[in-house]
Amino acid sequence: MPAGNDNGPEIKAAPALRDKLRKLGLVRRDDLILHFPLRYEDETRITPIAEAPGDGPVQAEVDVFDVSVQFRPRRQLVVRVADDTGELVLRFLNFYGSQTRQFEKARDEKRKLRVFGEIRRGFLGAEMVHPRCRLVGTEETLPASLTPVYPTVAGVSQSVLRKLITAALADSDLLELLDPEWCSRHSLPGFEKAVRTLHAPPPDVSEGALQSRVHPAWRRVKFDEVFAQQLSLRRAYVARRQKGAPVLHSSGQLARNLLASLPFSLTSAQQRVGDEIAADLAQPFPMQRLLQGDVGSGKTIVAAVAACHAIDAGYQAAFMAPTEILAEQHYLKLRAWLTPLGVEVAWLAGSLKKQIKRVMQERAAGSAHLVVGTHALIQESVDFARLGLAIVDEQHRFGVAQRLELRRKGYNPHQLMMSATPIPRTLAMSYYADLDVSVLDELPPGRRPITTKLVSDVRRSEVIARVRGSVAAGRQAYWVCPLIEESEKLQLQTAIDTHGALTAELPDLRIGLVHGRLKADEKAATMAAFAAGEIDVLVATTVIEVGVDVPNASLMVIEHAERFGLAQLHQLRGRVGRGEHDSVCVLLYQTPLSETARARLKVIYENTDGFEIARHDLHLRGPGEFVGSRQSGVPLLRYADLEADTDLIEWAHALAEQMLRDDPERANRHLVRWLGGREEMLRA
Ligand code: ADP
Ligand code: MG
Repeated sequence: MPAGNDNGPEIKAAPALRDKLRKLGLVRRDDLILHFPLRYEDETRITPIAEAPGDGPVQAEVDVFDVSVQFRPRRQLVVRVADDTGELVLRFLNFYGSQTRQFEKARDEKRKLRVFGEIRRGFLGAEMVHPRCRLVGTEETLPASLTPVYPTVAGVSQSVLRKLITAALADSDLLELLDPEWCSRHSLPGFEKAVRTLHAPPPDVSEGALQSRVHPAWRRVKFDEVFAQQLSLRRAYVARRQKGAPVLHSSGQLARNLLASLPFSLTSAQQRVGDEIAADLAQPFPMQRLLQGDVGSGKTIVAAVAACHAIDAGYQAAFMAPTEILAEQHYLKLRAWLTPLGVEVAWLAGSLKKQIKRVMQERAAGSAHLVVGTHALIQESVDFARLGLAIVDEQHRFGVAQRLELRRKGYNPHQLMMSATPIPRTLAMSYYADLDVSVLDELPPGRRPITTKLVSDVRRSEVIARVRGSVAAGRQAYWVCPLIEESEKLQLQTAIDTHGALTAELPDLRIGLVHGRLKADEKAATMAAFAAGEIDVLVATTVIEVGVDVPNASLMVIEHAERFGLAQLHQLRGRVGRGEHDSVCVLLYQTPLSETARARLKVIYENTDGFEIARHDLHLRGPGEFVGSRQSGVPLLRYADLEADTDLIEWAHALAEQMLRDDPERANRHLVRWLGGREEMLRA
């Protein structure tokens, strides 16, 4: 970390206020400067009551002629006011004595009152509910700029924030950290101008452009924000390359043996990504590569090839998956692939009995070449003898903390992270800029397209008939139970009920049940029976969401599909269409559908490409959900919008690389301004 990590002066305020400000992320003076308004109120002009438009708030200047408390329909303060053009009723449902007295004072002393709010014209005339009111001082003029309204928390009033921010602005030199010429080439104003415009916009500013955040001042601030993010991630990327990692020189023989034993050959995308990984492993610094590939694109074999390289070079590899079902399935597959080649594959999961675990751990420490398991692999006291490569499947399911754990334990292995939740390009470029990214953009040949059907729940019996038909034709089916987010217990009960109902309705079919509460070996036994064709219909909760691979299963029914997220539906649907049979995914939904549920179902119905679905998802949900645990507890981009501000992200990406190379000191100043001591949290 470069020197000079002085975060700048702290905010001067009483301790109680400081605590509240901290909740807003406001600690240093610079934080105040970068705390920009949510919106503005125009108090620069007075609107005559009669001329107020029906929509949007206005400011009126009025005389008070009556103040009363009424009790019907409920207790409220009613203040009757007027200007030269008309009368207005102010209504307050919750009010204090001091408010009442303020109005009485205005009435008795004939003082003018400025009221700000939306005028509604009802049956009883014009009225304002809960307007903001202020007695006007003698000689008081109208403010010269729009009034900012800041994000705040209880106990910190707008006027306190405004005072603090005004003072901070007066104190700071608002130093320009970007090349002015670069800025003008990109039509961005200077830092000082942008900041002052946003905190105190002159009345002639385009209010629309400010509100919709496309004003050049907003663009500059948003650029600075994404630029800080890019600098931080890029610096982490560079720093990682300065750390040592074992150089895994592989002869490639083991990988060749593996490929020769497979019934298929790699797609060219798999080939290309495999080469990228092999090249990374031979570097003296740790690989940190994210492998993205849609459901079914064949990431497992790519990971297995990578593991072969590590083993070939005399090191161990660890393969972690987020659930036991998935980890176990990987274990079985990897063992089948690799044991014949003389590789020792060990299994280690959280629920293994202590005794076995101890033996397994010893093997992890010693003879095992490849250790497969859940994140128990890093959480428990497993010591690897020579860990060279850590593979993390379904990376998005793991928290940053779990991945950091590896490093904390003193390992600095090469890391391959795999994700079937495709990350849209702009998102990858911003939040994942510290990783190298490979994409499997090709599905293995011979995949049959999956037909998606949207079926209302009232036609459930037709769906059951379809299940019966499918099994009669020799296929198998998944029946996914509704997601009940609020209660795991309810979710479990629903799964059991569904299993019971289907068993009653399809008495001659073999119906299995798998859910998260089963013991690991029970789960494994059920999954194995399903894979072996001993179960016709597998009733399941979302435990089967990721990775599960049973090619003969060609029908999936998802109950209450409207409750699931897009990524989840895509993952679930990816469990079928894995064999040579035509596959169908039936999305059962319950009416009435909410608007967002309808939008989601439409996306999943119309799209099969995971990237396309992810793009819609980003649009529907925003980035917060996407980056999930990676960013847990960390402010996401506050101002920039990944969809609207793609150009800014691209510029920032390029400029970050350049500035870190040419002027790291200036880059550091920018980082400190935006992130202060919080930079650490933006990566890992
Ligand atoms: P995912 O990327 O979703 O993890 P998997 O690795 O589970 O996908 O692969 C899905 C299925 O495709 C598996 O049955 C796997 O053996 C098979 N597969 C992988 N690569 C190929 C290929 N090049 N040709 C044919 N089948 C393949
Ligand atoms: Mg997978």
